[in-house]
Amino acid sequence: MKTSPHLSELSSGGFFAQAKFWMKRYLLWPLFPASRPRLIALLGGPGAGKGTVAGQLAPALGLSHVSTGALIRKEIAAQTDFGKQVQALVEKGLLIPDQMALTILKRALLAPENARGAILDGFPRSRAQAVLLDEVLASWGLSLEKIVWLELSEADLVERLSLRRTCTNQSCGRSYHLKFEPPKNAGICDACSSPLFQRKDDATETIRERLRTYSEESTPLRSYYQGTKGGVLVFLNPTNAMTREQVLAQVTNAISSKGERV
Ligand SMILES: [Zn+2]
Repeated sequence: MKTSPHLSELSSGGFFAQAKFWMKRYLLWPLFPASRPRLIALLGGPGAGKGTVAGQLAPALGLSHVSTGALIRKEIAAQTDFGKQVQALVEKGLLIPDQMALTILKRALLAPENARGAILDGFPRSRAQAVLLDEVLASWGLSLEKIVWLELSEADLVERLSLRRTCTNQSCGRSYHLKFEPPKNAGICDACSSPLFQRKDDATETIRERLRTYSEESTPLRSYYQGTKGGVLVFLNPTNAMTREQVLAQVTNAISSKGERV
């Protein structure tokens, strides 16, 4: 895409933080590979539980939970230049161009608070995004340590999506599940006490459409990763009959294991 995002990649952390990043990239990481940030991608369809798993896993591993969707919603809520551009696209019903999503991801990965690494939630969604991500990471001398793909049946995804509720406070944006992760008080966010609502794209009539888009995008993404990242790609098959702890244990296991299929 030719869209050039008007968001400076160098805007986060200032000059010294950037200088520190590049010193590490060229001096520290080649000498001490163990000091490189750990980057783990969590993939799966809408409703697969990526956000929930990443939110629990990241602190357990001492990594950051980097959700491109949450970062973008934050920019919109704060009405930054970038947020306004994205909002204009969303209001027209257009998708956010890959380059814009990548830009915001890069900025997050360069931020000093994420220096130890991150669980990537929501990126890449497509083969094109995966190629872009690989190029950026390669230019930093990094690569994905593990790609964990949560594969749920369509029936399970539908059940999870239709029972999802989201915080109305955009800068919070926490999501709940009426069956698996209900709020302590019905209809109220645990984190910020704002009311919860059902996102338009979680309404039953749009779920089928989202699942179709997911299957169209994920098939080429899957073959790309099978072809290039077979050694670090792991497929898991959680079901709605499993508890959050069981799913988390599966994912944790997959990350610490070698790349063979589980
Ligand atoms: Zn909230």
